[in-house]
Parts: sequence; C-alpha cells; structure tokens
Amino acid sequence: MLKYLPMRTKAEMRVALVVLTIAAIILTVLLSTLALYLMTSGDPHEIWHINEVWMRGILFAILISGAVGTIFFHILLNTMRELYEARAQLNVIAQQDPLTGLLNRRGFDAAAAVLIQQAISRRDQLSALICDIDHFKKINDTYGHECGDQAIQHVATLLRRISSDRRHAVIGRHGGEEFAVILAGQTHREVACLAEELRSMIASTPFVWDQAYVRITISLGTSMSPPAAASVHSLLSRADAALFEAKSQGRNRVVQAPVALAA
Ligand code: GH3
Ligand code: MG
Ligand code: MG
Repeated sequence: MLKYLPMRTKAEMRVALVVLTIAAIILTVLLSTLALYLMTSGDPHEIWHINEVWMRGILFAILISGAVGTIFFHILLNTMRELYEARAQLNVIAQQDPLTGLLNRRGFDAAAAVLIQQAISRRDQLSALICDIDHFKKINDTYGHECGDQAIQHVATLLRRISSDRRHAVIGRHGGEEFAVILAGQTHREVACLAEELRSMIASTPFVWDQAYVRITISLGTSMSPPAAASVHSLLSRADAALFEAKSQGRNRVVQAPVALAA
C-alpha cells in the first residue's frame, strides 16, 4: 500500500502521514467494534449498556493507536523518503562521468534514445557528432596523467558551452578522450558549423599546465539521418567512421559522413 502513496515532497509526506494515521484509527475502531460485537454475542442492548469502564478502555486504545501510529508512520515515511532520494542520487551517479560531469556512456545512450524517439515523433532530422582529442597519449606522456585529466575537463567545458545552446542536444563522454553529441532538428549546414566552431574554439582556447601552454586540438566526425533511418547505433557508427577519416587526413579537422537514406 505504501508504494501507492505519493511521498516525493514534504507536503505529500504529511498527507501520507495523516492518511495512514486515520487508516490506523479506523482499523482500531473496526477491530474494537468487532471484538465488542463478538463478546456480547451481537446483542444491541448489551452493546449500548456496556460497562462505562469498558468503553473508556476502547477510547483509550483509539487514542494510543492514533499517537503510536503517528510516530511509527512518521519514522517509516521518513526512512522511505530517504530511500527514494538515495535511489535517485544513485541513478544520477550511475549515469554521470565523475571527471567531467557529463553523461557517461550508459547515461548518454539512455538520454539519446529518448531524444531520438521525440525527434522521430516531430519528424526532426537527427545528427551525431563524435570528437576525439588529438595525440592525447602524448599529453599524458609529456605532462602527466593529471594534466591529461585537466585537458579532458577543459574540452568537456567548451563542448558543453557550445553544444548546450542547442535546445535538443545530448552530450556525453563516450570513452577516454572521446565525446559524443546527438542533436535533433539541425540542418546539415548547422551541424557542420557547430563542428567547425568546436574545432576552432578548442584549437584557439589556451590550456595552461604548470606555466606551459599545452596545445590541444580535436578531430570530429559527424553524421546525419532522416528520422525514419535514425538510431543511436547507426548515427554514432557513421560519425565514428567519419572521425577515423578526419584522423587519417591529418587531425584537427571535421569530416562529415554522407547523409543516410531513409529506409
Ligand atoms: P589520436 O590522435 O589518434 O586520437 O591519438 P591519441 O594519443 O589521442 O589516442 P590513443 O588511443 O593512442 O590514446 C588515448 C590515451 O588516453 C590512452 C589512455 O591512457 C588515455 N586516457 C583514457 N582515459 C583517460 C583519462 O580519463 N585520463 C587521462 N589522463 N588519460 C586517459
Ligand atoms: Mg585521441
Ligand atoms: Mg580515442
């Protein structure tokens, strides 16, 4: 029964507490009446002329059940609310990358699937963008792992700043130094502009580590699908192939995959 009561907010909890306490009192009254009925063999005269002390006893039982019920349900509901909150926090933690605060792969895939479903119902074009820091291993090897971590955070911040201007966008850290974005309702040209904006902003925003300027560039692959042909997997795998092409062509560049045809 408890799981059917709304208990997300304090106000809802107060209502649940009142409902449960009233339910406990009603149950006490019903059980006491039933006990009385059985003990007097159902004779109405006997019930009404029953010993006054006996009636007081029942009244006392009702008061006790109301008071004990209030305390008991208060503790129970508080514990349940804490459990709900802990579960919600765990859900966030399970879907978030601790280094950048972006969605991790699990969170990204879940959020992207929702975005794609909404885009399909609006008949919006869908696009994906995968970017990967160039020669990142060299940054780690030259300046240390901590610098590498800061570089990942630096790219994530710029990526979030630019991509989240787009209303229908899901951004995630897709692996080590690789990020993915799924966008809905953008034209081929808009996606190309966004990718180029990201590339040039990251190449031109200084990243300083230990008083040294560390040059960071990224390569990007983009893909686009009409809603009927879109899935997280197909969008990302074509963007990934375009990213591979961008790396092969010399890095620090954008390559767009050909637009997928509707099935
Ligand atoms: P490319 O230009 O082809 O992408 O080369 P790359 O060196 O960037 O790519 P490669 O796959 O050779 O190396 C990626 C490195 O990223 C290897 C791995 O140790 C490092 N890495 C992965 N995750 C993290 C992380 O969270 N922090 C740090 N500091 N390094 C990471
Ligand atoms: Mg790389
Ligand atoms: Mg990589």
